[in-house]
Amino acid sequence: MAEAFDVIVIGSGPGGYVCAIRAAQLGLKTACVEKRATLGGTCLNIGCIPSKALLQSSENFEQAGHEFAAHGIVIDEVKLDLAKMQARKDDVVSANVKGIEFLFRKNKIAWLKGTGRIVAPGQVDVDGTVHETKHIVIATGSESTPLRGVDVDEKRIVTSTGALELDKVPEHLVVIGAGVIGLELGSVWRRLGARVTVIECLDRILPGMDAELATAARRILTKQGLTFRLGARVTGATASDAGVTLQVEPAKGGAAEQIAADIVLLAIGRRPYNEGLGLEAAGVAMDERGRVRTDEHYATNVLGIYAIGDAIAGPMLAHKAEDEGVALAERLAGKAGHVNYGVIPAVVYTWPEIASVGQTEEELKAAGIAYNSGKFPFTANARARAIGDTDGFVKLLADKTTDRLLGAHIIGPDGGTLIAELAIAMEFGASAEDVARTCHAHPSLNEAVKEAALAVDGRALHI
Ligand SMILES: Cc1cc2nc3c(=O)[nH]c(=O)nc-3n(C[C@H](O)[C@H](O)[C@H](O)COP(=O)(O)OP(=O)(O)OC[C@H]3O[C@@H](n4cnc5c(N)ncnc54)[C@H](O)[C@@H]3O)c2cc1C
Repeated sequence: MAEAFDVIVIGSGPGGYVCAIRAAQLGLKTACVEKRATLGGTCLNIGCIPSKALLQSSENFEQAGHEFAAHGIVIDEVKLDLAKMQARKDDVVSANVKGIEFLFRKNKIAWLKGTGRIVAPGQVDVDGTVHETKHIVIATGSESTPLRGVDVDEKRIVTSTGALELDKVPEHLVVIGAGVIGLELGSVWRRLGARVTVIECLDRILPGMDAELATAARRILTKQGLTFRLGARVTGATASDAGVTLQVEPAKGGAAEQIAADIVLLAIGRRPYNEGLGLEAAGVAMDERGRVRTDEHYATNVLGIYAIGDAIAGPMLAHKAEDEGVALAERLAGKAGHVNYGVIPAVVYTWPEIASVGQTEEELKAAGIAYNSGKFPFTANARARAIGDTDGFVKLLADKTTDRLLGAHIIGPDGGTLIAELAIAMEFGASAEDVARTCHAHPSLNEAVKEAALAVDGRALHI
């Protein structure tokens, strides 16, 4: 039997590594098991960070090629050095994952390198060595959801992992799934020169987001050059050296057709990952979607075993996993950790960015909650005009009786940053009037937020 710990966290993604840091800060002797060669999980290695590095580089490329001229900046020829762009992305990832190693050293967290398996409550096997611990935290994350008939080889038919590594711009990229990952990576490769078709079986994109926001996103992304095939279902894919042939059918039934692609990106969602973790043997209960079942304090049905992040229910987002990691560590240290699931922002890092927090109009209607809506377009915002980015709007939803903010939805420049102001307002239980009466710097994109708050009461000033 090896060294004993207070907490062993299995998985070093944003849920796991943050839980480990907070537990160590609170004086618990902590270890984190990670089987990948580097720390940081999906997010840092093959998710949030590399995708945002490529989104930034490809946006710079697009601006240099198509938008600088309008600012009076003349570039004769813009050329793409994809190998360098990919190398930069790898450097960004490397700096981030090394940062977690540093934080582990700083906080005296033991990195147990290898694959963790729960032997029994209080015992974790890591590649043949059993470690004792008071608490076990499952933070093993998620993996790309497979689709029957579409066999991923990460070369021709790729998941997001392969789509982040392409060494050549595909002539035709077909994305299966119009969710966040499909739209972000579809945008990257379109900006770099690919023809991109997005196939989605629903009749809308970005399922779960406010429908008005999603409709605006579809219009703007179509204008940028993405082609959407909505209400269409992919039933099979055949890959050869020449490319991939997809079988596509109308979702409501009808004649099938074939679509040819150089690369197919399968992006229909993610599912919890817990292979080889020994959950069944340990008696840990799962739900019908393969997620570890927990109570509101992240405890599973087995005493001393907890779970957080993508492995459990809730939005599969890095910051949700992080906040759960903090809340759980605090509870394990005898404090009162808590996550407010009503105020978890979600951002799609396309350009313009698409960001939401709180309830959508559809959810309010379904719940029978009366609300007022205030909307303000970026075309009427001075800073957006100065930047040259006027697509989109801010929409705020407030309770009809109390004026309390219930939801905020933004599509526009830096929407992902703007949404933070509204998340804080909602966390403090602010009304639309509170936001409207707060002095906002001029000229700033945030003034569109203030104007939308004024618009809730029908008194926007600049439109
Ligand atoms: C392309 C892409 C882009 C994304 N962009 C964003 C974004 O912009 N913003 C956002 O909020 N979210 C984004 N996400 C989602 C985000 O990455 C996840 O929500 C987040 O990583 C979940 O964190 P986690 O700690 O639960 O698990 P993960 O990050 O998946 O980490 C789990 C870790 O556990 C390890 N592990 C699993 N089993 C074992 C075992 N038995 N033993 C040892 N180690 C094990 C894995 O190797 C992995 O490193 C993106 C995802 C993808 C794929």
